[in-house]
Amino acid sequence: MDTKEQIKRSLSIIDVASLYVQLKPSGKNFKALCPFHSEKTPSFSVMPERNIFHCFGCHKSGDIFTLVQEMENLSFPEAMDFLIERFNLPVERHRRESDHARSSLDAFATANESALRHFRANLMDDEGKHARNYLAERGISNTTIEVFALGYAHNNWDSLLQHLRKDGADLDKAVELGLLGRNREGRVYDRFRGRIIFPILSESGKIIAFGGRTLFDDPAKYLNSPESPIFHKSRHLYGFHQARPHIRESGQAILVEGYFDVITLHQFGVRNAVAALGTALSGEQVHLLNRYTDEIYLFYDGDDAGTQATLRGVECMLTHNVSPRVMDCGKDRDPDDFVRSDGPHGIKERIEAAEDGFRFLLNHFMEEMDPRHPEHKRNALNQVARIVNEITDPIVRQEYRRRTADAFQVDLRHLPPEHAHSPAVSNRESRQPLLISPSEKEFLQSLLASPAIFSEVRPLLDDELVNSLTSRGLLRQLMQRYSEASRRFEQMDGIWKDLSGPEAALLQEILLSTRDVPLNHESHCRRVENCFLSFQERLNKVRIREINSRIRVAERDNNPSEAVRLMQQKSQYLKKKYKVSKEEPFDQKGARESIR
Ligand SMILES: [Zn+2]
Repeated sequence: MDTKEQIKRSLSIIDVASLYVQLKPSGKNFKALCPFHSEKTPSFSVMPERNIFHCFGCHKSGDIFTLVQEMENLSFPEAMDFLIERFNLPVERHRRESDHARSSLDAFATANESALRHFRANLMDDEGKHARNYLAERGISNTTIEVFALGYAHNNWDSLLQHLRKDGADLDKAVELGLLGRNREGRVYDRFRGRIIFPILSESGKIIAFGGRTLFDDPAKYLNSPESPIFHKSRHLYGFHQARPHIRESGQAILVEGYFDVITLHQFGVRNAVAALGTALSGEQVHLLNRYTDEIYLFYDGDDAGTQATLRGVECMLTHNVSPRVMDCGKDRDPDDFVRSDGPHGIKERIEAAEDGFRFLLNHFMEEMDPRHPEHKRNALNQVARIVNEITDPIVRQEYRRRTADAFQVDLRHLPPEHAHSPAVSNRESRQPLLISPSEKEFLQSLLASPAIFSEVRPLLDDELVNSLTSRGLLRQLMQRYSEASRRFEQMDGIWKDLSGPEAALLQEILLSTRDVPLNHESHCRRVENCFLSFQERLNKVRIREINSRIRVAERDNNPSEAVRLMQQKSQYLKKKYKVSKEEPFDQKGARESIR
């Protein structure tokens, strides 16, 4: 049994989905807020019976591997490694499968981990005293230093370099990670010097980057790791790994601006705070939070820059279909000093008094305008309408347009018109091809590359089997088209309008990839045959699982005759599996028609 199969047998989609979303039972399935798109009502469905997920909002679907690949941004072999490690599975890894990908990723991880050890040790040495005093002055406790693994970068050019060398880390990788810089002569040097170090962790707690605050008068007060193969800053939030359980528990998340805001709030018991990483909030970061809660509070500094950041934050969330709330921390204060003076109780009050994000936006633009000048009004109205028009959900957008018109006391007709709405975001999402298993992909590829196979395979494709495939919609369209076009796919055009976004994208993807499959007809037959067997086998497994649970029920209800009947049925399915794999190869003679 290969690694993939072993992992599949050990884990259910529920185990894996629970890493990322909060599942609520819904019939025999589970529902959650979708991790791939922002939403208020859950359309992300987890189906343990078929061991898959599917989102009815953005149409993403797949199995445990695709979920991990998407969420952790990993290749397939990396996703297998991730699952083995995360769930501590007793699986023997087939070495060659991903040695290359692994060693490259391992080298990044090793360099970061080595740097982290160095920075943490520095904080405790002689030179680190300076940094310890600084943290003590800011009231950061030792426990907090531990929780956030804070460190210190020595104020010289080669402290980390020496350490990484001694530790045997890959220096090229350290340069790629931005731990080291390289000058024109090719000499490498420490990039972080004389700085308090904030390790940036991935959602699952791996060290992926660092932030550093200068303790000297470097004009760059903060320095972050650059983008790297393992760090895409718009996808992560500072403190998220630590805050995640508290966000789950409280059902609320607080977005702040700085590292110290996150840390101090945490120390004062407000543990559901996170920060964007030194940039404007991104849609991906909104999604990340939205996977756990749609009650998101913006708690930014009480100065002009903070107000501007709040406006942009509200805009970003609204256009991603999340309505945020805005907490006021008082003129010229920041969350860090707010919680020191007012404590967690003060935070609670501010949460209760938080203003609706859209209201905040409206008020801001209305206060800014001078009512004596009608053109000011037009200007303010345009600014609000520009944001509202970006909201992709048509119902929500209409509602906000109405509220805007009311607030400005104008007729709805006088709002700047909506764009002919093919909204940018949902469009991009719907162009994502449907995610299907590799064998389904091969199956469709070969069918399209060598349609004559269709006449052979068609009688075997009963409803139940087709239904068990993710690409069933596409497959049905193909079956119909094949019979209408008298056994050739000559009228593909008609297919497009019968397929929805992700399915159409899948068809396109497959048509494109069939060009790269220079197999002859016989090889396509073999491929289709193998795929078909794997579908059949998968379906049989599902049936057997179902029967097993019915047997358990029968036993529990003390119904031995029913249990016996089910066991007989089960043994038939077990036999059927063998029968298929031995006795139903396709007759290839009839399938030699050549295709245009
Ligand atoms: Zn979705």
